[in-house]
This record gives sequence, C-alpha cells and structure tokens, in this order.
Amino acid sequence: MLFDSHIHFGQFYDLYTSPTELKRFLDSVGVERFAASSTTICESDYDKVIAETKELADICGSRFLPVLWITQPMLKDGGLDKFMDSGIRWRCLKIHPQLHPTTWINDSHEMKWVVSMASVLQMPLLIHTGEKEGCNPKLYEKPISDFPNVVFILAHGRPINETLELMKKYPNVWCDTAFMPTENIVKLCDEKLSNHVLWGTDYPIPKYYYLDTDMKIYYLDLVQKLKDSISQEDFELITHKNFKKLFG
Ligand SMILES: [Zn+2]
Repeated sequence: MLFDSHIHFGQFYDLYTSPTELKRFLDSVGVERFAASSTTICESDYDKVIAETKELADICGSRFLPVLWITQPMLKDGGLDKFMDSGIRWRCLKIHPQLHPTTWINDSHEMKWVVSMASVLQMPLLIHTGEKEGCNPKLYEKPISDFPNVVFILAHGRPINETLELMKKYPNVWCDTAFMPTENIVKLCDEKLSNHVLWGTDYPIPKYYYLDTDMKIYYLDLVQKLKDSISQEDFELITHKNFKKLFG
C-alpha cells in the first residue's frame, strides 16, 4: 500500500498538471490515497484553485485529501472565507514561508491565526521547510510548544539536524519525505522517529527540476530505494500506516 502525503496539481510556473493528468500518474505508480494542494494558489487565482480541487475530488473521491494552502494575501482579501465556504472538505492546512519569509514566524499575528485555526479545526499544519530565509524549522518552535494538540508536519524536513532535534523534543512534530535524500529518512528511522514520518514526493514538482527524467521510473525508484534501506516495519509506517493514523 502506498499513500503520498505531499502532492500538487495546477499551475507551477510554465508547468500545468490537470486533475485528470494527476490521477493518471498516481494510478500508474500505485498510489492509493494522497493529500494534495493546488500550486495555482501562487497566482492568487482562488476561483481556479477551488474549481481544480473540486474536479480532483470528483474524479478521485475519498482517495484525495484536500490541503488548504494559506497565503498571506488570503488572510486579508477575503480569500480564506471563500475557501472555507467552498464546500470542500479540507483535511490539512499548509503554509509556505519561502514565499512570505517574514509572515510565518514564531509569534507573528498571521502564524498565531493559522495555528489557532488548525487547533480549532483539528487539522495538521504542513509547513514548507528549508535552508532559505524564514524556512528554518526552529522558527516554528514557539507555536509547536504552545499548541501541543496541533500536528506540525515539517515538509522536506530540512535541515535534517534541526528536524531531528524538534521531532525528538516534541511529539506533535512530524515530517514528510518530499525531496528528502533516502539517507536522511534512514537517520530518522535510526533515531526511532519513523512513526512520525510521512511518505511524500511533491509530485509533479520533480518534473520541473528533472526535465529529461521519466517520472514513473523516478517515482518507483524512490520507493524501491527506501524499501531497500530500512526495515519492513518502518517502510510500512512511512508509506501508509502513519498517514492512516493521522488522517483516519
Ligand atoms: Zn510542495
């Protein structure tokens, strides 16, 4: 069984992935359930994001868990209300600090707003992490400790040392494996953290970076490499059991 917790559709620069194309790809690699958000949100085209999300829900049914990607402008221009009133059953919230590096930090008003929202709605909060400004996992330590009932998923788990530190310290910190080297997933397993790691690939974003690569081969190779590197028990936790535990 294979569940992918970090998937996208929609417009990403010049790359467009329609709901139908996404479904076809996920079927071809054997992904049974997935959590996904539309990258069209980067263009602030809320109506298009809602239409794409509904279309994907129509063709995929309960296999698809819609992720509500919250941007800074949405909090002020009424966009958030539009998404909440859309009739879509959102299952997870997401923020991307690289796009708004000064917005989503520790005690900021916006951060408190979104984390409180995750707490009230009882949804995990997915946060993009990385080495760039505003994306360091440590920047979220305050909300993580203030809201122990909210699961924080550190997307990409970067840098890995900070990710490990926070995951060891706080049971409400999880991470996903999108663009994570297999070696780092092994580190997480060695530290006995595999019960808080979610398989994620960021598909179709790899398509944008690895232009000449066959995506089906790329995806299946990643799965196989992980399978060869960790125990069967950890592999099952990461590829589907943790997802089930978190999302039901
Ligand atoms: Zn992503």
